[in-house]
Amino acid sequence: MTATLKTDVGKVRRQNEDAAWLDEKLGVFAVADGMGGHLAGEVASGIAIDAVKRMAASHDIASISVMRDAVNAAHQAILARAKENPACAGMGTTLSMMWRGGHYMYIAHVGDSRIYRFRGGALEQITQDHSLVEELVRARIITREEARRHPRRNIITRALGTQGDNAPDLLAADRQKGDLWLLCSDGLTGMVSDEEIACTLSRETSLDAAADSLLAQALNAGGRDNVTLILWRDEEG
Ligand code: CA
Repeated sequence: MTATLKTDVGKVRRQNEDAAWLDEKLGVFAVADGMGGHLAGEVASGIAIDAVKRMAASHDIASISVMRDAVNAAHQAILARAKENPACAGMGTTLSMMWRGGHYMYIAHVGDSRIYRFRGGALEQITQDHSLVEELVRARIITREEARRHPRRNIITRALGTQGDNAPDLLAADRQKGDLWLLCSDGLTGMVSDEEIACTLSRETSLDAAADSLLAQALNAGGRDNVTLILWRDEEG
């Protein structure tokens, strides 16, 4: 097995509003973290993942423009559902997805879920958070360490289904044989530091054990949010 997906409601929340999906054969991987009260977050993240599935079902070759269309379709579908159903008003979701191409992983990303690449013992965050604290860090107003404990660390500046900015970051990241890719919601990264993640990925021998260990660390640290992660080892590169 070269891919694994774990999701957990955590220790505080009643519902799991995260959604995730992967198809190893197609090389498509996606994590969405929904927001909005009374199950609406779950609806939003579910719609986003459905859009990814539809994209994967109807295209054979990874393409940035197809991914952009899929993200836009997800955004429109969430808005339409919210309009139909007032209980869903204001719902939104993050979406971080990647699609295996020949030499690159193609990535579309909105919000504060993350995609990391672990190569040669080093963990690199490939996506950039669309969050208030990320902006404050970039403006050198707070440090990365302060961002982790900032009271407004949950505020995201871009999401699907909400008014305002929803355009995805679109990028291509090079792939090599043996790379380990991690997609996760902030329920992992809010609880477990990059150093701890890197240490775990170096230590564990199986993908499944590494994923279980990361999940356990997030829960042991308090599990304040839903935790979702996908790990995939690139055997081709
Ligand atoms: Ca979350």
